[in-house]
Amino acid sequence: MAIQRPKGTQDLLPGTIEQWQYLEETIRSVCRDFGYEEIRTPIFEATELFQRGVGQTTDIVKKEMYTFLDKGDRSMTLRPEGTASVCRAYVENKLYGQPLPVKLYYIGPMFRYERPQSGRFRQFHQFGVEVLGADQPLVDAEVISLVWNLYQRLGLAGLEVHLNSVGCPTCRATHREQLQKFLTPKKAELCDDCQERFERNPLRILDCKNPNCQAVTEGAPTTLDTLCPDCGAHFEKVLSLLREAGVAYRTNPRLVRGLDYYTKTAFEVMVEEIGAQSAICGGGRYDGLVQEIEGPATPGIGFAMGLERVLAALQVQGKFSERRSKPFAMLIALGDKAQNEGFSLVSALRARGIPVSMDLLGRSLKAQLKMANREGAEFALILGEEELERGVLLLRDLTSGDQIEVPVNEAVEVVCMKQQRGV
Ligand code: ATP
Ligand code: MG
Repeated sequence: MAIQRPKGTQDLLPGTIEQWQYLEETIRSVCRDFGYEEIRTPIFEATELFQRGVGQTTDIVKKEMYTFLDKGDRSMTLRPEGTASVCRAYVENKLYGQPLPVKLYYIGPMFRYERPQSGRFRQFHQFGVEVLGADQPLVDAEVISLVWNLYQRLGLAGLEVHLNSVGCPTCRATHREQLQKFLTPKKAELCDDCQERFERNPLRILDCKNPNCQAVTEGAPTTLDTLCPDCGAHFEKVLSLLREAGVAYRTNPRLVRGLDYYTKTAFEVMVEEIGAQSAICGGGRYDGLVQEIEGPATPGIGFAMGLERVLAALQVQGKFSERRSKPFAMLIALGDKAQNEGFSLVSALRARGIPVSMDLLGRSLKAQLKMANREGAEFALILGEEELERGVLLLRDLTSGDQIEVPVNEAVEVVCMKQQRGV
């Protein structure tokens, strides 16, 4: 059997790639307008970066990483997410020497060894933003409103922005104690994973997807109940700024990120119509992360958005028009000599920036005209042996069928003029 692409990966072919390009262009223009600059980091990194930056206890690090030894016996990992790499690059390139905050974005493939299903791939793409060096609630609001603004430009509907605050290590210690107290009598009813989380990381029990665990944690103390005054004021300020920006949100105390370096704001954006994998974006503040990877203490906040899921939402909501690129003109040459002259014309038109194609297989006139129509060209430039001898070509309007003779040495000017007039 012929070799097939690896499970959980996709070939993005002409016909759909235009949708990707449109999405990426829209992302770039939003980032430009918000003053964020692009960063590109390696696709693979030292495994230790993700062990520390994503966390040993996370599903990503425990089960989902593509890790291998390189020929120098170094453990390397295909990046499963972008934040750790951006923070590493921030430290390694001393970006903290620049005026703060540093506002960065990335777009690129990520790799996770997961069970492939609708909306879940082994190679998928994320757009993400990271702001480093600012701890004000204004930054949280700016980042969330950037997401909101992008979805508005794309025309997406039916979105829910879920917001929570997980507090700081101080208020989390209080919460941990209260939560364990609440759960102790019901511990036996929790799923195996949650039993394990009970000591190590009880906060994560709150976002267990198991319906039974959700019932057990009904009415449990949330991080919002135990926020310290500083974290409480931060959260209130974020909410009031989001109201100013017109972002529709709801608070969701079950939205948690369990690691110590995640602090304060956590958020997620969901869209219903794309099936079980409804989260299209997740993010939050990580004031302890840069220090975790041995950089200078630096507050940070960011998010990552799954582009396959955004595209799926755009598709079900019918937000794509036909975007395949079309040639403006198709040059039809008949015979060897005409092909030479035709190639020279095509080159001159391309040098002027006119989208133009020509037949590359030496087909018949009829077949070439058919191709010109199929590709949606506005004009055909027909160059036969007889026309060539008289120094002319036929310029046919493929919509009306009208046809005029144009001297070959004026053809470039005539076509350029027609294109400028938008004919
Ligand atoms: P999930 O709960 O769906 O596994 P996650 O918490 O692992 O999501 P994050 O690590 O926060 O997701 O990644 C941010 C976004 O990236 C998700 O909201 C989702 O849109 C997308 N994403 C994550 N994993 C995949 C995947 N395997 N395939 C496609 N998109 C993904
Ligand atoms: Mg996941």
